[in-house]
Amino acid sequence: MASEKSGTTSNLARAAQKYLWYPFTQMSEVEQTPPLIIERGEGVYLIDTDGNRYIDGVSSLWTNVHGHRHPRLDQAIRDQVDRIAHSTLLGLSNVPAIRLAEKLISIAPEGLTRVFYSDSGSTAVEIALKMAYQYHAQAGQPERSTFIALENAYHGDTLGSVSVGGIDLFHAKFRPLLFPVERIPSPHCYRCPLGRDPSTCNMACLAPLERILEEKAEKIAGVVMEPLVQGAAGMLVHPRGYLKRVRELTEKHGVLLILDEVATGFGKTGTMFACEQEDVRPDLMALAKGLSGGYLPIAATLATEEIYSGFLGRYEDFRTFFHGHTFTGNPLAAAVAIATLEVFGEEHVLEHVKELDRRMEERLHEFAELPHVGNIRRRGIMTGIELVADRESKEPYPVEMRVGHQVIMEARRHGVIIRPLGDVVVLMPPLAISLDELDTLLDAVYESIVTVTQKK
Ligand SMILES: *Cc1c(COP(=O)(O)O)cnc(C)c1O
Repeated sequence: MASEKSGTTSNLARAAQKYLWYPFTQMSEVEQTPPLIIERGEGVYLIDTDGNRYIDGVSSLWTNVHGHRHPRLDQAIRDQVDRIAHSTLLGLSNVPAIRLAEKLISIAPEGLTRVFYSDSGSTAVEIALKMAYQYHAQAGQPERSTFIALENAYHGDTLGSVSVGGIDLFHAKFRPLLFPVERIPSPHCYRCPLGRDPSTCNMACLAPLERILEEKAEKIAGVVMEPLVQGAAGMLVHPRGYLKRVRELTEKHGVLLILDEVATGFGKTGTMFACEQEDVRPDLMALAKGLSGGYLPIAATLATEEIYSGFLGRYEDFRTFFHGHTFTGNPLAAAVAIATLEVFGEEHVLEHVKELDRRMEERLHEFAELPHVGNIRRRGIMTGIELVADRESKEPYPVEMRVGHQVIMEARRHGVIIRPLGDVVVLMPPLAISLDELDTLLDAVYESIVTVTQKK
């Protein structure tokens, strides 16, 4: 992988260091180490300005589905740009936005009938929260203004999404700006917040939810959560049946269930949407990341007809949902999203994910043998490998060692780009990855974990 840096690369690197401000990144480090600059993509590979190829092991931050430069997706954008790139959805419509909405509803969990577009996962969640609150208010229950959210939750970076967020590292600094939320434990069995044993606990972590709902359901607008896997929290995989129990409780108390499928949606957990696995139908559902195959920013908040009709009335009743973004329903992004959904059928993508699932199951046993691998969590291709200083006591590595970061930097030397969550090594390749490419990815990550955790 070590090729000479070209003149272009060093010029770009200097300009990056001078002008860019990266998300979630301590920029003093970027100022010291020249950034890796991606110029092209091809299938599951990212190619830098010096021509080095890397497997995109986290699908460009969990977005890419069918690989980079997929001919169908590229063509969908070309075809649409020859018609129009953007026109507003405020009071007008456009062809791809309509077709995509129809397609999304045809594959969405039963009961979801309406599509409200925006451009990121954060806005999709933000919209769901505002819809839930306004819906109740207009149904004569304005006191339903509190949301219940999980510990360790991540729902995006706008202030509403941060309010329901529960990752102190990201969110605690902003507390004075946020609205209060009822917090329930995350069903994280490796580090159970209640100190219980998952084989005998009977999901005791649901008791706080039950108690809040019994005490004050009439003040609750909704429960917000990621179904099956809390991604950014460190790929916390929930015990089977947890989501179903949450749905039963919310239904019993007349509280809305808002599912954030921004990370889990579009095949990543093995089914098109994660909630299908527990036969759960949410009242509101947020989609983004994989919706456009990872090509363009587009998001959607799906709602039931019941919620939607709560906003109907005469103009002067002002029941309108006064919310929208300039690029809501962008035709280019919608066009590539339609193609993304079509490719799922054309290329039998969910069948292929079953093969990936089996291969990962086989191969990850080797990882589990490594002395510093504390826990491996996975649903479909969403995988977290938690590294610990001591396996017996589950003691983490000292933060300043940045073991997760060391592993991903080592993986680059093996031709793989991944991004950790603390000391959890995350794998989430594009669904299009072949079994051979998956093996190459796993080999590189295995070697990198061994190298980093064995050195003193
Ligand atoms: C990434 C993510 C978001 C935020 O999406 P953005 O497009 O980055 O705003 C929200 N929820 C979940 C579960 C996510 O993984």
